Amino acid sequence: MSDGDHEFGSYGGRYVPEDLQEALDQLAAGFDQAVEDPEYRQRLDSLLRDYAGRPTPLYHAETLSERWGADVYLKREDLLHGGAHKINNTLGQGLLAAHAGKTRLIAETGAGQHGTATAMVGAMLGLDTEIYMGKKDVERQKMNVFRMRLMGAQVNEVTRGGEGLADAVDAALEDLVENVDSTHYLVGSVVGPDPFPRMVREFQSVIGEEAREQIQEKTDGLPDACVACVGGGSNAIGLFHAFRDDDVAFYGAEGGGEGADSTRHAAPLAAGEDEVIHGMHTRVIDDDVDVHSVSAGLDYPGVGPEHAMFREIGRAEYTAVTDDEALAAFRELSEAEGIIPALETSHALAHAKQLAEGEHSRDTIVVNLSGRGDKDMDTAAEKFDLS
Ligand SMILES: *Cc1c(COP(=O)(O)O)cnc(C)c1O
Repeated sequence: MSDGDHEFGSYGGRYVPEDLQEALDQLAAGFDQAVEDPEYRQRLDSLLRDYAGRPTPLYHAETLSERWGADVYLKREDLLHGGAHKINNTLGQGLLAAHAGKTRLIAETGAGQHGTATAMVGAMLGLDTEIYMGKKDVERQKMNVFRMRLMGAQVNEVTRGGEGLADAVDAALEDLVENVDSTHYLVGSVVGPDPFPRMVREFQSVIGEEAREQIQEKTDGLPDACVACVGGGSNAIGLFHAFRDDDVAFYGAEGGGEGADSTRHAAPLAAGEDEVIHGMHTRVIDDDVDVHSVSAGLDYPGVGPEHAMFREIGRAEYTAVTDDEALAAFRELSEAEGIIPALETSHALAHAKQLAEGEHSRDTIVVNLSGRGDKDMDTAAEKFDLS
């Protein structure tokens, strides 16, 4: 594949320095081979079951359903090891790296969730693990930094640019160019140059495959809508993929921050432009916008190229959900169902509520509960006075 070949309509591609082309070709070949290899498949399936905790349940949220006026089902990725869907991908890529004889994993992280999931797999597979993280995020996410170090990963503070996630990605890409023979860059979402978007999709698509079977068992049919939050877009693609050829509507909820018409948001699909970033052609947030949402896990200026295509062809609809809407949904799920969702996930819940009260009234809606909210207690405690 060259710059000109795009996996997803006019989006995707591989915009990287010459030194990386060969390594990405090898990675793509190794991946194509591994997914056909029964031994690799078996090892991955057994780790997904015994290490990560799959399959995850599909829970019929009866109180929410009654309140919202639609049948709401929650795919419980929050119950996985590490508390989010991230482990589906880090296990898949970690095994692939070990298979290819790599001795070292590197990754970037913003909120620290992907770094933590990479550190887990690095420890379990006995691979050296280094995590790049913006200085600003290291300070904000002390607990996850400590977790990563506890599992033996080295956390490298990135002090360039805005000291955030996008700068950590740049630093990790430079590391990869230097150490390409020994190192696998474990990309955290359906982003970056080919083959990462399709590779991460493959590893996350277990979410939708399970959900599709589970909803048929429970309702004898398919859902009317699937809803997920979108940072890079991996949990959303993971849910959507199995329903791609079905008459099922897809909705992605982006980090709207203070509102998509403001200068602080994280909504490249709802309010961005076409550009090349981090090796791919996709939708990107304008330069004059400060990439921000209440959930650090959605604070990425780009988005997976397949979502850019879905938006263009109208296969999925993307909406910017504001911080306040997400916080209200965070609180409502906690109270109504006794499940505290991640703030990222709360964006999906807030949008599901809007749909249930609007065009999907009385319908069956599957929401991907991408993660649990333990990591967000400090933020929540600042917002809500519960005394
Ligand atoms: C990282 C994260 C996200 C955002 O990543 P995607 O690739 O868009 O899925 C969403 N929810 C949770 C709980 C996360 O940890």
